[in-house]
Amino acid sequence: MKKIDIAIVGAGVSGTALYYALSKYVKNISLLLLDKRSEIAAGNSRATNNSQTLHAGEIETNYDYQKALKLRAGALSLRQYCMSLPNREEVIHSMPKMVLAVGDEEINHLQERYKEFKEGFPRLQWLEWEDIRKIEPQVAHKDGYRRPDVIAAMGYKESYSAINYGLLAKSFVSQSKLLQEKNGIDSEIFLNARLIDIKKNQEGYTLLIKRYGLIEKMHCKFLVTASGAYSLYMAHKLGLAEDYSLLSAGGNFYFSSLALRGKVYTIQQKGLPFAAVHGDADITQDRRTRFGPTLLPLPKMERYIDGGYRDYLQCVKIKSKFPSTMFSLLGNPIIRRYALYDMPFGKNLFVRQVRKIIPDMRLKHLTFAKGFGGSRPLLVNHVKGKLVFGETKITQDSAIFNVAPATGASTCLNVAMNDLKYIVQALDLSYDDSFEHENLALA
Ligand SMILES: Cc1cc2nc3c(=O)[nH]c(=O)nc-3n(C[C@H](O)[C@H](O)[C@H](O)COP(=O)(O)OP(=O)(O)OC[C@H]3O[C@@H](n4cnc5c(N)ncnc54)[C@H](O)[C@@H]3O)c2cc1C
Repeated sequence: MKKIDIAIVGAGVSGTALYYALSKYVKNISLLLLDKRSEIAAGNSRATNNSQTLHAGEIETNYDYQKALKLRAGALSLRQYCMSLPNREEVIHSMPKMVLAVGDEEINHLQERYKEFKEGFPRLQWLEWEDIRKIEPQVAHKDGYRRPDVIAAMGYKESYSAINYGLLAKSFVSQSKLLQEKNGIDSEIFLNARLIDIKKNQEGYTLLIKRYGLIEKMHCKFLVTASGAYSLYMAHKLGLAEDYSLLSAGGNFYFSSLALRGKVYTIQQKGLPFAAVHGDADITQDRRTRFGPTLLPLPKMERYIDGGYRDYLQCVKIKSKFPSTMFSLLGNPIIRRYALYDMPFGKNLFVRQVRKIIPDMRLKHLTFAKGFGGSRPLLVNHVKGKLVFGETKITQDSAIFNVAPATGASTCLNVAMNDLKYIVQALDLSYDDSFEHENLALA
């Protein structure tokens, strides 16, 4: 049986970021990166499956200041990485970015936030109607005149705020290749290779992998799953995280013929782990504007892959507080409204929401973005009856099971650095700790 030091399951942004971090900062190890799909970043990290936003926490109004500073640190290190790439113009894009407040109540709330956030985000600007008009004319007008409701925003006229996360993941792999020989790293990448079972033993884990229809066994000293919903599935297989059930929250988008130049977010409700409807210039579609995401609960593990229903049922504990948590979530009027957007009449409701951003928006301006939008793996603590917010890291002595959150692509490098520290400690490896100083310099 082939033996390796560290196996990473899942080649989205999370898995590839860790692959890169290990290739850069650790020496003389063997690595395996595997994914069941035939391409790097074909899951939620594919550019068409997410909103492409580099979240820094200031315009996501469900983040408080302290949480936003943490998100910002992650966003800064990712931006710095992207700017160092030879193909950076394809990977990271600059555009306007703002959060829009409509009506006096929202404006007062945003003004308070601006005062609090200004120090930690020195480039952040307060934008009055006149400023918004220059940046996003569609937002400022209705029927050719100044829109009747009062608006203000905070944001940036230009900011590196959009990333093609699919290309980012591919860059992590290609940059790793450049580092591995120098650092004595022996590495393999298996695509079309599905982890189907894990057994823990004294020296680590035995992995059962199905590759091109053939089953093979491998042994690793340390295992990391960065496999979205399947990270929970794998943790359950080892008897871990048994308090958690899975809520697969798909998200759809609409393209609009009325265009934005950049990203316009709206004020979010505190405590909801997904963004309120926003408009984004799509960097893979000649900056056509995409609105969304909606919220479509799915009884399966992933989107655009047949099956997965049985695996999903294994991730849900029906005889627990899971059903009642779902009912109470549906009791929240915002979630209920979101869930209706994907019903047959949903576009009529969705367009009203989008009018908050572009008042002239009509049904005829919106086209369903078929094949766009992934599925957020949200965890429910079915013992406490609560939705779990943020990144979930389930650990065992020599394994980490990561379930990335709604902003997970933006924080992938930071999460990878933290995982690296955990791994080197568990395996008693030495590492180059210069990145800790780099991060401090950016903070
Ligand atoms: C609608 C939507 C909008 C979003 N917008 C943003 C945004 O604007 N900004 C942001 O930062 N984040 C956003 N996110 C979140 C972001 O997309 C994810 O957090 C991120 O892509 C997660 O990356 P990942 O590598 O953990 O997962 P994925 O990219 O999903 O990769 C997981 C990989 O694991 C593989 N895998 C699964 N099971 C197995 C197995 N058994 N064996 C082998 N391989 C396996 C899959 O094939 C897949 O390639 C959004 C998500 C959604 C759904």
